[in-house]
Amino acid sequence: MKEKQFDISKLKRVTKEDCFICKNQIETKGIIYQDKKVIAFLDINPPTKGYTLLALRKHKEDITELSEEEYFDMQRVLFRISKAIKKAFNPKRVVLLQTGGLVTHLHFHIIPMYKDVYSNFLDVLSKKSILELSKEEKKEIVSKIKENLESETTL
Ligand SMILES: [Zn+2]
Repeated sequence: MKEKQFDISKLKRVTKEDCFICKNQIETKGIIYQDKKVIAFLDINPPTKGYTLLALRKHKEDITELSEEEYFDMQRVLFRISKAIKKAFNPKRVVLLQTGGLVTHLHFHIIPMYKDVYSNFLDVLSKKSILELSKEEKKEIVSKIKENLESETTL
């Protein structure tokens, strides 16, 4: 896996009208988990191995728009995917983030941290560098997370 410098400020804001989540434009091979309510998939610009995004199917823009049930539907899957990532790649820590800055469709970032978390987290969160993954590497990452997700209790 090669790393390259990245400039997050060059990413375009994704509004409701051009929302790739609502338009089902998520790369099928990157999908880790999906059901009627949520979808989880690999970030296309991952700063770390296994960096995953989890979104509600419905276009909601922040947490205050969710019902309690929708919130806990997301949390249940976040919890299990976080555990699966830990089992698959043994990062030092798995960190969760939700912002709504660039992509207006509410989603959580599930972030495996491998290096020293204290000195490295700002670089990871701001995506100072990202991994260039081949199709094979992506496929392997997805299947490892899925394998470990299946060994968790049924979703
Ligand atoms: Zn959307």
